[in-house]
Amino acid sequence: MHHFDYNNGTLMVENLSIEALTSRYPTPFYCYSANSIRQQYQAFTDAFSDLPALICYALKANSNQAVLTILAKQGAGADVVSEGELRRALKAGIPAHKIVFSGVAKTEREIEFALAQDILCFNVESATELQQISNLASASGHSANISLRINPDVDAGTHAKISTGKSDNKFGIPYLDALAVYQLAANLPGIQIKGIDMHIGSQISTISAFDAAIECLLSLIEQLKEHHINIEHIDFGGGLGVTYTDQDKSEQALLEEYSAIIHKHAGRLSCKMIFEPGRFITANAGLLITQVIHVKPVQKKTFVIIDAAMNDLIRPTLYDAWHKISPVLEPAANAVTQMVDVVGPVCESGDYIAQDRALTVVKSGEFLAIHSAGAYGAVSSNTYNSRRLIAEVLVDGDRDHLIRPSPSYEDLIALDSIPNWL
Ligand SMILES: *Cc1c(COP(=O)(O)O)cnc(C)c1O
Repeated sequence: MHHFDYNNGTLMVENLSIEALTSRYPTPFYCYSANSIRQQYQAFTDAFSDLPALICYALKANSNQAVLTILAKQGAGADVVSEGELRRALKAGIPAHKIVFSGVAKTEREIEFALAQDILCFNVESATELQQISNLASASGHSANISLRINPDVDAGTHAKISTGKSDNKFGIPYLDALAVYQLAANLPGIQIKGIDMHIGSQISTISAFDAAIECLLSLIEQLKEHHINIEHIDFGGGLGVTYTDQDKSEQALLEEYSAIIHKHAGRLSCKMIFEPGRFITANAGLLITQVIHVKPVQKKTFVIIDAAMNDLIRPTLYDAWHKISPVLEPAANAVTQMVDVVGPVCESGDYIAQDRALTVVKSGEFLAIHSAGAYGAVSSNTYNSRRLIAEVLVDGDRDHLIRPSPSYEDLIALDSIPNWL
């Protein structure tokens, strides 16, 4: 159950009418439901409450300080992929001992900062990175807790741009090299081996892919044991899919299947477990609210041109993502629909939010809600065409708060500096 339903003819976010919000917040803006985030986090933790599990929310899905504060209060840890994300997690009150640091290329400065914070674990993705962390840790008198991220060479059955666990992806240490890299780790001075890690992709609904990857890690753990290398935790990464279209499996069903696979293997695992869900926690907790500027029929189709664009929500352009779109005012049951492309004002033909979509007939000035925009939305927005980053609003029951204002044009332009020789 998500917290966006029609009530008295208007779409609500929890107890607030979106139409009312549009009179106070200029469109486009992101709008998140605090209780939706809490509910998703709770469902995920409940699924593993009988196991020694730590949930490290993957910040890259949505790293707004207010969102992180909600999760910190629920007891979440964090999975970060940059110093910026690490700083965001700490600032929101997520303790360092619940933070894991992933990513294929952490810089020296990032490693030094993370060592100084004494984070739970570095998820290491290459032998050279392992050396680098060892050198930096030794030099500063630290010892770095590490996991090796293993690339199990499984096909997660997801979009090519969000698949990360195949041998031709840049991520992780090839399965066949893993033993040698663990042996290297065991002999390096600044390194403490803590765990083993995987992350095979995102928006995974072919749950059997997790099964194959976990099986691969388990046999590796057994092999390591024979070499007297002990693993204290296994990190399953993130990647659990969510419901975007009416044809997709329900999130509850996906979570149940996923949990069944983890439980199936749990008996063979006498170690702690880490999960790194991102999308599952926030994707369906957010809407992008936008206004129709023009409706433009051309020879072969009709364009609904809205005030949000690919710079605000790049997922359709980047990943062929499908986002449900609802009018903010509830259409009559017998309202006529028409096939349209929903596009933004950016000067790119790739600037679309939906193509060949059946939408009830809309007019300029009407408001639309783009669903499933809580993950990989605001975080990947940019200022292309000198468009301002858009605001983010949080609703919690009958309260709302502007959790990130849209910067002014002056702010945007003031980032540039003109050399005095011009
Ligand atoms: C992106 C990412 C996640 C989160 O993935 P979701 O599909 O959003 O759950 C977790 N771990 C790592 C290492 C990632 O890169």
